[in-house]
Amino acid sequence: MTVQERLQNIEQTIQNACDNARRNREDVNLIAVTKYVSVETTQAAIDAGIVHIGENRIEGLQSKQENIKTDHIKWHFIGTLQSRKVKEIINNIDYLHSLDRLSLAKEINKRAQEPVKCFIQVNVSGEESKHGLVPDDVMTFVQKLKDYPKISVVGLMTMAPYIEDETRIRTIFRDLKELQLSVQKLELPFAPCCELSMGMSNDYHLAVEEGATFIRIGTALVGKEM
Ligand SMILES: *Cc1c(COP(=O)(O)O)cnc(C)c1O
Repeated sequence: MTVQERLQNIEQTIQNACDNARRNREDVNLIAVTKYVSVETTQAAIDAGIVHIGENRIEGLQSKQENIKTDHIKWHFIGTLQSRKVKEIINNIDYLHSLDRLSLAKEINKRAQEPVKCFIQVNVSGEESKHGLVPDDVMTFVQKLKDYPKISVVGLMTMAPYIEDETRIRTIFRDLKELQLSVQKLELPFAPCCELSMGMSNDYHLAVEEGATFIRIGTALVGKEM
């Protein structure tokens, strides 16, 4: 299948999930995660209509940005970001999906020229291998971000475990949404927190039904070349 054909299938699935949940398709942003594919395949996705590109490594982000000269693209950094690497990318991305500690917020605040749209990464599933804040720590963490004017909390992000149990996956997405609403209700000027970044190749239909506004799809959309 070509990227374009895969995109059509994914679009259909997103539309069905939106219908099931009585949501508008326009409220779901599709990020193509290109970490496993070449510049050429990334370009094919863009030619098929993709606007949001997600990378989890600095080198991957930079090689795509150097070789893709389209200025309407929105760049998402979705991987763990080491504080000492912040300066290399922070002024070249539109969204960061992995804010998970104050030391990172501090470094971003020091290096960013403009406020950075950040998602706080939350480890809802409790898997040890996953990064992110414990859900119970999120409210306190958000309030501390008032000291860092270059951080704008646009929403929360999570990764569900790679399991079959759809009920369990839904519960994780629902918990993230509940937490997002709690933060939104604080009405902090630096944390509008109206977005939910959740859903990957295996579970994005569930994520859309549970309220995702950004879904991050790699394998199902662009495949895996490396
Ligand atoms: C790799 C990755 C994705 C996409 O994973 P697929 O299963 O290939 O769709 C989404 N989010 C993050 C944070 C990732 O690292």
